[in-house]
Amino acid sequence: MMEFIKDFQRMNIYLAYNVNVDAIVYLNEKHIENLIKEFGAENIKKRIDEYPREINEPLDFVARLIHALKTGKPQAVPLVSVETDRWFDSRFKYDSERIGGQVGVIANLLANLDFNKVIAYSPYLGKKQAEMFVNKDNLLYPVVEEGKLVLKKPVEAYRENDPVKINRIFEFRAGTRFKLGNETIEVPYSGRFIVASRFEEFARIETSPELKPHLPEIGEMVDGAILSGYQGLRKYYSDGKDANYYLRKAKEDIKLLKKKKDIKIHVEFASIQDRELRKKVIYNIFPLVDSVGMDEAEIAHILSVLGYRELSDRIFTYNRIEDAVLGAKILLDELNLEILQVHTIYYLMYITHSDNPLSEEELMKSLEVGTTLAAARASLGDIKRPEDIKVGLSVPFNEKGEYVKLRFEEAKAKMRTREYKIVIIPTRLVKNPVSTVGLGDTISAGAFASYLSMLRRKE
Ligand code: AMP
Repeated sequence: MMEFIKDFQRMNIYLAYNVNVDAIVYLNEKHIENLIKEFGAENIKKRIDEYPREINEPLDFVARLIHALKTGKPQAVPLVSVETDRWFDSRFKYDSERIGGQVGVIANLLANLDFNKVIAYSPYLGKKQAEMFVNKDNLLYPVVEEGKLVLKKPVEAYRENDPVKINRIFEFRAGTRFKLGNETIEVPYSGRFIVASRFEEFARIETSPELKPHLPEIGEMVDGAILSGYQGLRKYYSDGKDANYYLRKAKEDIKLLKKKKDIKIHVEFASIQDRELRKKVIYNIFPLVDSVGMDEAEIAHILSVLGYRELSDRIFTYNRIEDAVLGAKILLDELNLEILQVHTIYYLMYITHSDNPLSEEELMKSLEVGTTLAAARASLGDIKRPEDIKVGLSVPFNEKGEYVKLRFEEAKAKMRTREYKIVIIPTRLVKNPVSTVGLGDTISAGAFASYLSMLRRKE
């Protein structure tokens, strides 16, 4: 682990596009009971059955929240109504506010791990947002001055009038019990329910026209890039633009970043509720990048739009390793990725083609970096310095680990795997996490950075 930390100090990474403020509520029994009293158990049950895909009114929120509590699965649902946006602020007192969005989480993580340079970009940078980035010399925001690319600390680069995106995050704990009508519900796993604000101004996922011509220069400066935020795209915009327009722009960005130097690009995929949009993002973006990270639910979502409905349903229903491996093989091949990383609660997986320069042992080491960082973050709430990793190292691998390995070996024996390298490791699971927000992003950033560092060593 310490070897990686040393490598990291020589590495530069570019990140785009999504940052926001996370306003966090730690949910307790009282919050939940009050919401049920206010909206009525029957109304809530009815709305759960309708399963709203967006939050248009408070009842949509309550229904999806209760549903998430019942299953214990982390969820993110877009909020599209300005009135309901205001309702949240009048209804809840936030326990804390911190940086969010994949770029926000990963930028602070890598800067605190003492990476040489972390260049973090988002189309908007308001003051409140800028102040949430760690104030260190290695975390920089790209701006263009007199036609030249200049890297500045976010607090020196923000624009007073830029809007700030706020996501509300409801953290829930395993074991929380409440009554919904006659039914008693006990939350099976700790997790979070995210109300993602999806107003149009934040749905323009693009590089500003001034910065865009400098992307090849940025590509030359870095060892790799992590791109995320495509889940914020819309099908249509009020000015007549559409998702196709922004996806064409996004493809240009990727090509520009790789223009002067063939850097590796990782995409961190987050759930996209709309099937058509999900399909567009997958078909437009994945074939241009090298590495993709996602969780198990996202694999199932993607397989479903690629036409593998039955396999997708199986992954949702049974969570079996053999199905996840089969699904991962399909994604790797159909989208021709170099590497796919899947994180689930009990294990992390990499799948590559067999000609990947790294050995299976090395790939496993890279996953270990990911889970160790996540365990450190789950224990501490935040990783503030490289030494914090030690806390992660002291978290044991989860008790299902041996079972997971066994099932994986069984699955491999039954499948054609000669053309692939597939590795799996159990996760280090923190019993009472301080927070579960950003753990997936932390895993992916740690795994991708260590993957890059080992590739560099080979060169
Ligand atoms: P995501 O849903 O993308 O944020 O990813 C969450 C991931 O974080 C899971 O797949 C686990 O691997 C990891 N994780 C979740 N809870 C914990 C915990 N309590 N301790 C350590 N890692 C966790």
